Amino acid sequence: MKENKKSNLPDIKTSLPGPKSKLLIEKYIKYFGDTRRPNITANKGYGCISEDIDCNKFLIFSQAASITGYSVPEIVNASIDQLKKRIVRGIAPPLLDFTEIILGKLPAELSQGRVNYVVSGTETVELAVSLARAYTKRPLILSYHGSHHGYLGTTFQLSGDPRIKSSWLAKVSDVVYIPYPTCYRCPFKQQYQDCNLLCLRYLEEVFETVALPEQTAGLIIEPILVNGGVYAPPDEYMKGIKAICQKNGMLLIVDEVYTGIGKSGRFLAIDHWNVTPDLLCLGKAIGGGFPLAVVITKREVTDNTRGGVRFTGTFAGNLVACAAGIATIEYIEKNHLIENAHKIGEYIIKSFKDMSKRKSLIGDVRGKGLLIGVELVKDKKTKKPASEDSSKIVKAAYENGLLVRSVGRYRNVLLLGPPLTISLEQTEKAIEILDRLIN
Ligand code: PMP
Repeated sequence: MKENKKSNLPDIKTSLPGPKSKLLIEKYIKYFGDTRRPNITANKGYGCISEDIDCNKFLIFSQAASITGYSVPEIVNASIDQLKKRIVRGIAPPLLDFTEIILGKLPAELSQGRVNYVVSGTETVELAVSLARAYTKRPLILSYHGSHHGYLGTTFQLSGDPRIKSSWLAKVSDVVYIPYPTCYRCPFKQQYQDCNLLCLRYLEEVFETVALPEQTAGLIIEPILVNGGVYAPPDEYMKGIKAICQKNGMLLIVDEVYTGIGKSGRFLAIDHWNVTPDLLCLGKAIGGGFPLAVVITKREVTDNTRGGVRFTGTFAGNLVACAAGIATIEYIEKNHLIENAHKIGEYIIKSFKDMSKRKSLIGDVRGKGLLIGVELVKDKKTKKPASEDSSKIVKAAYENGLLVRSVGRYRNVLLLGPPLTISLEQTEKAIEILDRLIN
């Protein structure tokens, strides 16, 4: 593919992985063992382009942490300015300003809440669940089949994907799994909307059998099940879940580590349904590429449980990360990036829906904003997952300078989730590449 400087489109110079990359990958395998990830090395990034160590350029189309793309001068400069002050933690403007900005973006009740700083998404969930249990004095947590909440301890127990957990022999005590509304593959074999939301009504059965309400602290949900196959619940579902939590004195924990901020075409994905969480987990994107993560709770939840501790870990609330986080949110607002996510997202969905009419492999196209799933199937009627085709397409896309990945129970859903700064021209290029690769 020829380099196109003007449009910053991908450009592959050597066969992949290139010679320098090969050396680094060998070293990587020596230290970390074999890797299932594509053979990408990291040299530099700008906009939605990632450049490997052999100077091959890739268009990033499945990405969550650098939501504004790479090397945004305003974000880089804000980080450097704070770094030059040499102080990385403490009571200082970046921490307080970031806290104020984030709270100002939340639904009314949460905007009066408490912010608890940690470093990673995994820790937000760990902390949120501990807070919910301590506050309600109940042990059980409801979590979803196919969910992904982190890599350690409690978060590992919560993640409802046995393939991720199998090697860890994770304990499953005190967690009760319930089916996510994955309508294209309904766990109850129903058709939306004839189903009358059986998945929601099924909770009554759960409460009478394995999770008595008086023993259940809360329910944790990803408002869009990203790793589980990019499913957004039907409109009435979120409100239904919230009502069930309220009725039973349970807390609603919303894990927006992946979906926040702006990625779904709203600041929070939960904003699509006008539902206020009792606890909200944010990570990945909020630190503008630096480690920054928070749990925001209704005031009484934190105040009655933590004895005034709001920072968990030495680097929690790091001031460089806070400075980058402020610049990130300002950049998103100044450039109307959430609107861009919404607009480009609709364009992608429409393009793939049109494409699905002439492609035997595309079974479903779904999502919100720039969190889009294209589900590949062997047969549109039986919906037999086309997992192998999916991994071949991911590999071929990489060889064409496009980075996407497959998610879902059968790893047959292409996740299309570029940064919010993606341009129409880059989007068209990505669609053109995938159009060539999908049968
Ligand atoms: N929750 C969700 C929904 C996630 O997608 C992830 C990471 N993929 C995590 C939690 C864990 O976040 P981290 O990798 O920052 O620990």
